[in-house]
Amino acid sequence: MVKGKQPGKRRHIPQRSCIACRRTDSKRSLIRIVRTPAQEVQLDPTGKLAGRGAYLCQERTCWQKAFKSSALSRALKTTLTDEEQAVLRAYADSLPDAEESAPNEALLPAS
Ligand SMILES: [Zn+2]
Repeated sequence: MVKGKQPGKRRHIPQRSCIACRRTDSKRSLIRIVRTPAQEVQLDPTGKLAGRGAYLCQERTCWQKAFKSSALSRALKTTLTDEEQAVLRAYADSLPDAEESAPNEALLPAS
């Protein structure tokens, strides 16, 4: 498949992609953040709120990356208030660290 700019790319795809690491996954394993029509940014665990949504992995590192790079404001096309950022940061703090899967162990000799 050729990757590139395709002007007619309007197909609905059920997969969602994390705005931090770009990994695509089924909607269920990503957390939706929504900017409601009232311009409020909030977590949307049910995925049912109306508004513009952005998705992040359930991994703290992705959230931190999104905060640092302003990927979230870009994806939601809005500026997050301090209060909204605090809510999201608090949520991120409750997420598991990606390092819990200990990727270094995979590099150890099998014996
Ligand atoms: Zn991610």
